[in-house]
Amino acid sequence: MTSICSYLRPDIASMAGYTPGEQPKVGEILKLNTNENPYPPSPAALEAIGSFATPRGAELLRRYPDPVGVDFCKAAAGALGVRPENIIIGNGSDDILTILTRAFVPQGGTIVSPTPSYLLYETLARLQGARFVTVPFTDNWQLPDPWPQRGASITFLPNPNSPSGTVLSLDSIRRLTEQLNGPLIIDEAYADFADGNALELVREGLPVVVTRTFSKGYGLAGLRFGFAVADPTLISHLVKVKDSYNCDTISLAAATAAISDQHWLLENRRLVLATRARLANELANLGFEVTPSHANFVWCRHPSHPAPPLYTALKNEGILVRLMHYPPHAPGLRITVGTEAGTSRLLAALARLVG
Ligand SMILES: *Cc1c(COP(=O)(O)O)cnc(C)c1O
Repeated sequence: MTSICSYLRPDIASMAGYTPGEQPKVGEILKLNTNENPYPPSPAALEAIGSFATPRGAELLRRYPDPVGVDFCKAAAGALGVRPENIIIGNGSDDILTILTRAFVPQGGTIVSPTPSYLLYETLARLQGARFVTVPFTDNWQLPDPWPQRGASITFLPNPNSPSGTVLSLDSIRRLTEQLNGPLIIDEAYADFADGNALELVREGLPVVVTRTFSKGYGLAGLRFGFAVADPTLISHLVKVKDSYNCDTISLAAATAAISDQHWLLENRRLVLATRARLANELANLGFEVTPSHANFVWCRHPSHPAPPLYTALKNEGILVRLMHYPPHAPGLRITVGTEAGTSRLLAALARLVG
């Protein structure tokens, strides 16, 4: 009998698939590997979720959700200083990246991103039957100028970047858009921890899309909610590409409450940035080379202790960080900024290992 798998598209059958960071069961493990926020989300978001366990909530859940999330778009527009028509909602920002890929990249098209960077873009290229091309960052995490890949169907630029945590100035992003013959997607998953963002470039009418997530700055990775900000006419085309009901009623309500609570966001940011400074400082004291971070993680290497055995030793102690390897560079550790207590536990373990 013929296996049903033999009917798959050959490129799907042979592709490796994206490997997300490990997700162990909640417990003793100190999880510093996927950049989740170490603090609980806004109480307003939790209250919105709780409100569904009522007769009124049951009535709302019986019906389909709002396909475009009008209330969310209004709240987000108010918080960000854009118009509701500038916003499209997604089931996590990975859903937004998929929608953008389907909308802009034909089969046989080209997806470009700098490297070392977010690994999902390559998976999106494979799924779309597109070529994936990377452009190395310069030694100090800037973009090469001139930019060598001008003809891409889409160019993805995470800013702040992962795994480095570095940011590019608005001027260097503007310079990139001048050279491209295609859209630039600025993936701002970590913008809540940075000093600036690229929303201004959307307002200026440049051919850019800014994507955001609730998984990092808002502490709601389990909820799955993200959005993009772009030209209103482009948004109306993107809406045709997305699943009709890509966001559920509960996540829409929670995300609306969360983005309306900017006080929570700023207070959380203050805590994470204070711990980030301490983490970077103490890692440097232990002899690590630490890249200055504008996100909620730090990227580091130790000149005399290779990253792979450090990763394994930490894991054996119940501390999970992300080991990342981008040849030809040596492997490094991407460590999420945790609570003060979690950071103390990590630093104590590393002091024993490299001390
Ligand atoms: C975490 C992350 C995302 C994905 O966010 P979700 O909303 O959880 O899908 C997108 N881009 C980058 C660079 C990220 O680090």
